[in-house]
Amino acid sequence: MDGLRPRKNNLINGFTTAEIEKMEKSLNETGDKCLNVEFFKKLARSFNSASGRAGKPKLKWSEVQSWYQNRQLESASKDKKPDTSTLNEPDVTTLTSKDAGDSEHDYSKLKFEARSSKDGAWYDVEKFVTYRNSRSKQTEARVRFVGYGPEDDEWLNVKESIRECSLGIDHSECQILKPGVHVVCFQEKNDFAKYYDAHIVDIKRKMHDARGCRCDFRIRYNHDNVEETVDLNRLYRRPEFERPHQRDA
Ligand SMILES: [Zn+2]
Repeated sequence: MDGLRPRKNNLINGFTTAEIEKMEKSLNETGDKCLNVEFFKKLARSFNSASGRAGKPKLKWSEVQSWYQNRQLESASKDKKPDTSTLNEPDVTTLTSKDAGDSEHDYSKLKFEARSSKDGAWYDVEKFVTYRNSRSKQTEARVRFVGYGPEDDEWLNVKESIRECSLGIDHSECQILKPGVHVVCFQEKNDFAKYYDAHIVDIKRKMHDARGCRCDFRIRYNHDNVEETVDLNRLYRRPEFERPHQRDA
């Protein structure tokens, strides 16, 4: 059976028009005084959980940082305020009305990913339409996927196929990855990526340089046992890795 329909990729330098607008706006409002690592991380996370990012590679905070650095260089060389009038309108087909809002909260309302029964890949959840109990007395949710319509809704077992969203891994955190660790890896197909569960088989540690982690991660996808060597940018961690020391308590 086919997976969910791939969505059109309309990225500009890796960002959606809505994301660029948001960054331009923050530059105009705050100048560069708040541009620290925490700010970039927060912004990258909010972008990754917004519906406009569905079906697109997740952003690293370092990519957000690069955008700001380039933008500042640009405006310094022009010696004028950034001009937002030339920006394209956000693609309304990829946005819910809430995404146009100003508050950070609007971008962080999406917190769950669900595994489609059609292809076994994980997709961001837009909402849970309704619930029911299966014959085996387990709760199932009718899931609306971000970027897809009601025709692609699926009934999914809440325990097995719905979970908190996976998170990007900062380059400085690559040491948390060890053989056997559960990760989510995206497989690139045509012009979009699908997120699949995988686990790490082997790691070749390398010296990090100005571009960050250079380590090679050998991973095996759980659904088909195919192995692949990937870099850190293709890997996502489960949220429980955030505070690994608490698991030992
Ligand atoms: Zn590394």
